[in-house]
Amino acid sequence: MLIQGRCHCGNISFFLAWEPDPADIPARACGCSFCTKHGGVWTSNPTGTLEVAVKDPALVSRYAFGTRTAEFHTCARCGIVPVVTSRIDGHTYAVVSVNAFEDVDQSLLRRVPTSFDGEENETRLARRKRNWIANVRFIETSN
Ligand SMILES: [Zn+2]
Repeated sequence: MLIQGRCHCGNISFFLAWEPDPADIPARACGCSFCTKHGGVWTSNPTGTLEVAVKDPALVSRYAFGTRTAEFHTCARCGIVPVVTSRIDGHTYAVVSVNAFEDVDQSLLRRVPTSFDGEENETRLARRKRNWIANVRFIETSN
């Protein structure tokens, strides 16, 4: 399955290859203070391949807070957050927003609330290494 997503204006888009086709797609409503404010719901497949295409990098705000181990790639033009990355041991891991999906059957989404508040930093990074998308590539598509 090839999942496409993008911010509202199209400055940030992504393609997530998910093989074999998923029976369902976990959709984790994150309970952190940032995600609560913008309704962040995330998914990832550790064996998936993610390509993030950015038209204008000057219009991408990378927001980090708290432990500063994750960067929220926010479109500065339309305000949508399609992707979050975490750099661990020199490797980039990512999750994508199910809210930014295009043309994905909503019945595939298995919604689960999550809270990682109070999690130790080491546990947090180990969890991301296990669960987040490990094959991530950013490309600039300025035209
Ligand atoms: Zn945008």
